[in-house]
Amino acid sequence: MRGSINIATIAGIAIDINFSWFIIFVLLAVTLANGQFPAALPDKSYAFYLLLGALTAMLLFASVLLHELAHALVARMRGIEVHTIELYIFGGVSNLEREPPTPAATFLISIVGPLTSLVVGGICIVLVGPAMAFSIPLGIIIEYLGITNIVLGVFNLLPGLPLDGGQVLRAIIWAATHNQQRATRVTAAVGQILAFFFIIIGILEVFNGLIFDGIWIGLIGWFFLQAAQNSNARLALQTVFRGVKVSRVMSPAPPTIEANRTIEQLVTGVILQQSQRTVLVTRMHSLAGQVTLNHLRRVPREQWGQTMVGEVMTGIEQLHVLNPDQYLLDVLPFLAEHEGDHLPVLAADGQLVGVLDREAIVRYLQLHQMLGSGGESTPPSQGSGTRERQDVSAPGATSPPSSPVG
Ligand SMILES: [Zn+2]
Repeated sequence: MRGSINIATIAGIAIDINFSWFIIFVLLAVTLANGQFPAALPDKSYAFYLLLGALTAMLLFASVLLHELAHALVARMRGIEVHTIELYIFGGVSNLEREPPTPAATFLISIVGPLTSLVVGGICIVLVGPAMAFSIPLGIIIEYLGITNIVLGVFNLLPGLPLDGGQVLRAIIWAATHNQQRATRVTAAVGQILAFFFIIIGILEVFNGLIFDGIWIGLIGWFFLQAAQNSNARLALQTVFRGVKVSRVMSPAPPTIEANRTIEQLVTGVILQQSQRTVLVTRMHSLAGQVTLNHLRRVPREQWGQTMVGEVMTGIEQLHVLNPDQYLLDVLPFLAEHEGDHLPVLAADGQLVGVLDREAIVRYLQLHQMLGSGGESTPPSQGSGTRERQDVSAPGATSPPSSPVG
């Protein structure tokens, strides 16, 4: 995912950290070093407080990771792979390869995350006493983790999308009404109401002088609103594209070039004449790769006459190739990843039969709008593309741990 670095792979799942996470890591460590730790442990050096703050932030990070791994492992037990977990400023995102097919699967995959946070929080609270007796700094850290994990668990159980609680409520409505779309609509609406509620509370907090907490809560609301609107947009797309196959929407195959032609021939023969920015490359009439304007910029102009297209192209093994019978909803996420590109569509015999690009999708949407409802009679898609499960944590919005007893 954009803006992230990979830090580890656990059970085949890539763990990525979003860059925004580093900002909150520093912010949290500094906040703790200026507040909780000096209050509870006077007469220590600032470096020591910072060290404790950084350690606490690391352990909080581990807690959020546990929450996400719980989602991922239950999803896997239900036959849904999770290839990446991204940890970012407000918690984590587990990228499920497809939507859970039943209300029961949705319910289990969603509820296990908050339950994990509540269990971790509960264990920490039980351990505060013994930890304090052993070492006061350790006790303070455990107490902070306990409170934060419980807040994380309760918060994520709020019943609006995109929170886990929203997915839980969605699964319940889906099971009760047998109507997945209605369930999504209702829980997305609850998510939007929650979002406005948080934004208003955040503004009130700022006016009450609690600027840091207020900004935190307001940001959470804003994030919520974005995510709830995304759920609505996704729902609209799902309604239009349900059961529609790639072959119905794709554009006809554009002109291609053979890999043994020169860049000069590519530019004059295809790019300038057809005004194409991305050109598919063939070898013996079967697809071999693709060249873009970026590839050409790397070759000095005076070498265009001698350099073969095949030497600079991106090979087919790195392209995302579609087949005409795939459901559009399953491949839309790949199109979103390959910004500005088109995805080649190959028939079973390896022949290039078309490309799926943004224009093709927009064209289909416009036609659909002009003709009213699409009147598709094809069965609904099994999956509906990659789903992002989002979690929110608010370390800054938790109440600070009380001073140690004694
Ligand atoms: Zn979660």
